[in-house]
This record gives sequence, C-alpha cells and structure tokens, in this order.
Amino acid sequence: MSYIDGPACKIQFCAYCGKIVDKSVRGKKLTCNDECAALYQRKVWNIQYAEKMAKDPDFAKNQSAKQYARIKSDPEKLEAHRQAQKERRKMPNYQEAEKKGLKKYRSNPENKPKFAQRMRKYRDENPEIIAEIEARRNEKDLLERERLKLEEPDKYQQLREKEREYLRNLRAEKRLAELQKDLQKLVNNDE
Ligand SMILES: [Zn+2]
Repeated sequence: MSYIDGPACKIQFCAYCGKIVDKSVRGKKLTCNDECAALYQRKVWNIQYAEKMAKDPDFAKNQSAKQYARIKSDPEKLEAHRQAQKERRKMPNYQEAEKKGLKKYRSNPENKPKFAQRMRKYRDENPEIIAEIEARRNEKDLLERERLKLEEPDKYQQLREKEREYLRNLRAEKRLAELQKDLQKLVNNDE
C-alpha cells in the first residue's frame, strides 16, 4: 500500500502515482485527482480479474454468459445490444480483432466440426444471402478469368490446371461415394 497511516505520519500518498494527496481537496480519498482515481480503480479491477482468472480459467467465459443471459431476457436490452454490436462491427480495430479471433478459433482442430456445423446452419437458414454471395463470387471469378485469359496467359494456364484438378478431385470423390454406397449395399445384403 502506498500510503502511510498512523499518528506519526498523516501524509497520504496517491495510490496510483505516489504524489502527495491534498487532503483539503480530496478528503479521505486514496488518490490525488480524478484521473488517478479512475486509473487506480482500473488497476484494482485488473488485479481482481487476474486473481479470479487464476482461480477459475472459465471465469471470463461464465461472466459473459451470465451477462448475455441477462441481456437476452429483456427484449429492449437485446435490441440495444444488437445495435451496439452492429456499430462496433463497423470499427476497423474491432474488425481486425474479430478476424484474428476467428482465425484462432478456426485454427484449433477441436473447433472444426463445430464451425462447420455453424456454417451449415447459417447456409440452411439464409439461402438468399448465400445465393447472392455465390452469384457475386461467380461473377467476379468469371471476370477475373477473362482478364487473365487476355492479359496474363501464364496465370490463365495455371488457373485452368487448378480447375482441371478440382474437377478431377470432384469426380474421384463422387466415385468414392458411389463405391461406398455399393459396398454398403453388399454388406446389407449379406446380413
Ligand atoms: Zn495521483
């Protein structure tokens, strides 16, 4: 603690910056001004948070789940939360952080099935959006293909080789699926 108590010393040092606190202005406060008070409060919170995380690694997760449950139970709060989320998503640093978080999440093999499931669910629930995205992507791909054909024949050849490989793989997968189906039939007939 950065302040000295007791009858011998009545001087109060700021708990954040260590300067002497003017008691006539600050009264019994531990800090020399409001700025230090806010910074000190944050420091205390950070220490408490670190202690809680050290004790329980799921603390943050549980806290945000609790908070979200509270928001979800109130339609007005939920709407405000969604609106705020929408605004946050427009901020470049937020987008950057979100991208990083998603990359980290996807790079964990444990999350792969969960992520695929979520993507499937999203695709099933939003066929119009998916169709629009695909149409836009196809159009862009076609334009790029035409451009390469005219301007960069080397890259165009590479692209064609890639396309051929993709089709080969697709056909191989299809054949494999058919084989498996036939095999399954055989097995079933044997039983
Ligand atoms: Zn201070």
